[in-house]
Amino acid sequence: MKINSVFFTASFPKVSSCPTDGLAEYAFIGRSNVGKSSLINMLCSRKDIARVSHTPGKTQHLNYYLIDEKWYMVDLPGYGYAQISKKMRQTWKRMIKDYFLKRDNMYCAFVLIDSNINPQKNDIDFINWLGECQVPFVIVYTKIDRLKKKELESNIEKIQQEILKTWDSLPQQFYTSGKKAIGRDEILGLIEEVNEKI
Ligand code: GDP
Repeated sequence: MKINSVFFTASFPKVSSCPTDGLAEYAFIGRSNVGKSSLINMLCSRKDIARVSHTPGKTQHLNYYLIDEKWYMVDLPGYGYAQISKKMRQTWKRMIKDYFLKRDNMYCAFVLIDSNINPQKNDIDFINWLGECQVPFVIVYTKIDRLKKKELESNIEKIQQEILKTWDSLPQQFYTSGKKAIGRDEILGLIEEVNEKI
């Protein structure tokens, strides 16, 4: 699938103000700095479509992009900012919980994990929470261009071992690089497949 049109719909401060048109939506979420903006730009083949999620005041919002007038790509606020206050972290948790539990038209969450760093507790905790809430999700390893093949495989294996401490099997996984445009067809292929079944 190729994306033809991308419109930034709006940046919503709360779930109750999100679109009510019932179009399918796909959420993108991960730790801050995981490469989410780069991935969204890569998927949309645009240079700076996801810049809004880095705009002051919008980083904690739900950013909606209407794709081909058919479905939404939803850029969710990143987690794991070391410097944010406890109160902000609570607000983030409430909003994300609200989002995943209320958006029945959210068909798949793409959880981004940096393939270059050791397994992070907040990534694993988040995946486990999605599982407990029965939210459909897949894993997207980001920045796979950074490490040498052997190092990359070994790091991803470590992440997978952490996941398998809780899960019987691994969820669907995608290997991507926003920089080198790797993984676009695979991710958009999954979205297309789901859209066709709806
Ligand atoms: P966000 O905070 O999750 O939206 O992350 P960004 O997309 O802004 O990227 C964070 C940093 O990682 C930036 O310095 C990017 O240049 C870098 N980065 C993002 N994606 C890639 C990638 O695929 N490969 C490499 N080598 N660097 C990346």
